[in-house]
Amino acid sequence: IDYRAISENVLYKSHNAFNRKVQLQVGAVQTVARLYDEYKQLLRIVQDKTAARNAIQNRIENCGGDKELRIAAVEEAKALKPELADLKAKLADVEGRLETLALAIPNDTHPLTPIGPESAAKVLSTHGPAPMPASPARDHVSICRALDLLDLESAAVVTGTSWYYLINEGALLELALINYALSIAMKRGFKPVTTPDVIRADIARRCGFQPRDQNADPPVSQMYHIANSEHEAAHHPELILAGTAEIPLAGMFAKKTLPVQALPVKLVGLGRAFRAEAGARGADTRGLYRVHQFTKLELFAVTAEEQSEEMMEKLRSLQVEIFEGLGLPFRVLDMPTEELGASAYRKYDIEAWMPGRGGWGEISSTSNCTDYQARRLHIRHERHNSDSDSATSKTLAAAVPFAHTLNGTAAAIPRLMVALVENGARFDKEGKVVGIDLPKSLRPFWVGGSARNIV
Ligand code: AMP
Repeated sequence: IDYRAISENVLYKSHNAFNRKVQLQVGAVQTVARLYDEYKQLLRIVQDKTAARNAIQNRIENCGGDKELRIAAVEEAKALKPELADLKAKLADVEGRLETLALAIPNDTHPLTPIGPESAAKVLSTHGPAPMPASPARDHVSICRALDLLDLESAAVVTGTSWYYLINEGALLELALINYALSIAMKRGFKPVTTPDVIRADIARRCGFQPRDQNADPPVSQMYHIANSEHEAAHHPELILAGTAEIPLAGMFAKKTLPVQALPVKLVGLGRAFRAEAGARGADTRGLYRVHQFTKLELFAVTAEEQSEEMMEKLRSLQVEIFEGLGLPFRVLDMPTEELGASAYRKYDIEAWMPGRGGWGEISSTSNCTDYQARRLHIRHERHNSDSDSATSKTLAAAVPFAHTLNGTAAAIPRLMVALVENGARFDKEGKVVGIDLPKSLRPFWVGGSARNIV
């Protein structure tokens, strides 16, 4: 954690947390600044005392058989021991309190980010055909039922509400969408990865997610925990189901120092996302819009500091290519401060028009997390040669800077299906749904080469 940056910018950091609606303890940023001063002073004293103890140790080793000198030095060392232990305990205590407070402070915010709630989002661009009028006949649930693409009832029995089976062309559509988006990402140099979906809660926290929201009353879990027996819990790390492949993708680089020539790292990860969706709004939970499990193709990048803003634009342009290829009406939004969470410095959401729902619905989200995750996961990169020459006199930490990390949705299947079904539904003269017009771009990715009544 960059304690110095926090101490030197108390006003900005407090204001920024307020704008982002991140609840900090009262006076948390000022306390970090005070504790950091205390920490530095204590550290200096501990270092001085440690040097003094080492000098005494030297004297003991080099007293050349002089018994009196040796006894005096041993006495001195004895006297110093409890004092040093006490100082070290104090240092650890201050460091612990400092870290707890500082970890809760959110990332800085891009100067162009609008301030305020979701409604303050700024539309950056609009794409695709003009939105068609809203119509309840285009509701994706009734269309998918009529065409036998979705089974919510069996899932309600097997698991619960907001779980689902995709069946027939519904299942094939998921595969086609994944491979379609994957092919575009790979064409742009993103390397394919499949990720573990069970992850350590600690890695999620370091990425800026709170597996249990302690601020809520009562505390709620946004992620599914894998229950351990008490005995197991004492011996194994706390495990959760990943809410997004961003977490295992970021975790791949934990404790690594990347060579400069490896940057930017560009990955496209396929994973299942699991969301407890505690407190989710009722209207959103109908059908596929807000479910507990979904397949998601995620773009992820690790860059040097000076590359991350450009990478953010590259992710956006890649997403625009994916969604334009699907023929969807959509718009790109610069998300305001209250929507940034803990880790994003800037966030672009993409919303598609969903006529059956009668509104715009989020289909993708892209964040530049700058060094927020990298500091917590210890992801660094070597400096360019020319820089490291001039950095020889600096500390090692300064010579190996933290990387920046970015993530963005390439394809979150259920929401894409809602948009494709509601925009593409085809009706006969009596108003009965007879099929779905799907974009031609999906054809090469359709298993079996054809699709009964939906293309
Ligand atoms: P997020 O990681 O929350 O920004 O979500 C990334 C994308 O996943 C969103 O833009 C949605 O398309 C999709 N998504 C998020 N939550 C859900 C959910 N509960 N059900 C279906 N899709 C979701």
